[in-house]
Amino acid sequence: MSDDAQQALRRAAALLAQARNILVLTGAGISAESGIPTFREAQTGLWAQYSPEDLATPEAFARHPERVWAWYRWRRALIARGGVNAGHRAIAALGGLTRVFVATQNVDGLHAAAGSLDIAELHGNIWRDRCSRCDTTVAHEILEPATEDIAVCRECGAMMRPDVVWFGEMLPIDALRAAESALDRADAVLVVGTSSRVYPAAALADAAIESARPVIEINPQPTGLSDTVDIRLADSASRALPALVAALDGVLTSG
Ligand code: NAD
Ligand code: ZN
Repeated sequence: MSDDAQQALRRAAALLAQARNILVLTGAGISAESGIPTFREAQTGLWAQYSPEDLATPEAFARHPERVWAWYRWRRALIARGGVNAGHRAIAALGGLTRVFVATQNVDGLHAAAGSLDIAELHGNIWRDRCSRCDTTVAHEILEPATEDIAVCRECGAMMRPDVVWFGEMLPIDALRAAESALDRADAVLVVGTSSRVYPAAALADAAIESARPVIEINPQPTGLSDTVDIRLADSASRALPALVAALDGVLTSG
């Protein structure tokens, strides 16, 4: 690690040591090292011919439910195979040192699997099916899908869909409210692995910056936020987060 990077890490740890409530905002980048591609990485192999906009919309589901479900089954399999990584684990460990609320754009369920407790899933959860007619839900364990049949609702017989937010749909209001009140309480914000381009989730990071709360960004690539954050750790989530949590632990135990 360069001197600059070490200094940024020390400053970030000192800043978090002062915080009583930390809000962690995460995006697809934190799960990239579990082998789960971000949307902006090209769709690979089997799915190269489709964009997420061709698959993650109510119109796509109405027209081609088998294709949409096949894509979600493929994604479920990738998530189940990849599992949690050191970045998810470090955020769960951070929750053991101080009060942490995680607001994630990810649908993979990996923050809960890693042991984080207070989580708002702003874009839903891929492991839950929801009835396309009556909103009955069914939760699944994080396991590779065993069947290719499309499930039907046990209440009304309509087709089940993944309980995720598709393009053009509203975010779950409870999750959004919970994330907003976590931001109100927070005295430091960590933004990890998100391009902060997908609204309204990205508005949380914008609001954090406007509110003058200290913001730390972890992302190997610069984003639209990078110039305005207080500290930037230009590294992958699975390296930067464990290093940050270890440094914070050091500050807390020595202080
Ligand atoms: P994004 O694709 O817009 O941006 C991903 C960001 O992660 C980029 O800025 C990239 O530089 C960064 N990144 C890549 N590798 C990283 C690493 N190892 N460590 C840290 N950062 C890394 O993703 P987004 O901002 O989350 O928004 C895209 C949308 O895609 C969201 O709505 C989300 O619901 C959905 N999505 C979710 C998953 C998932 O649940 N795992 C996967 C793909 C897409
Ligand atoms: Zn139903």
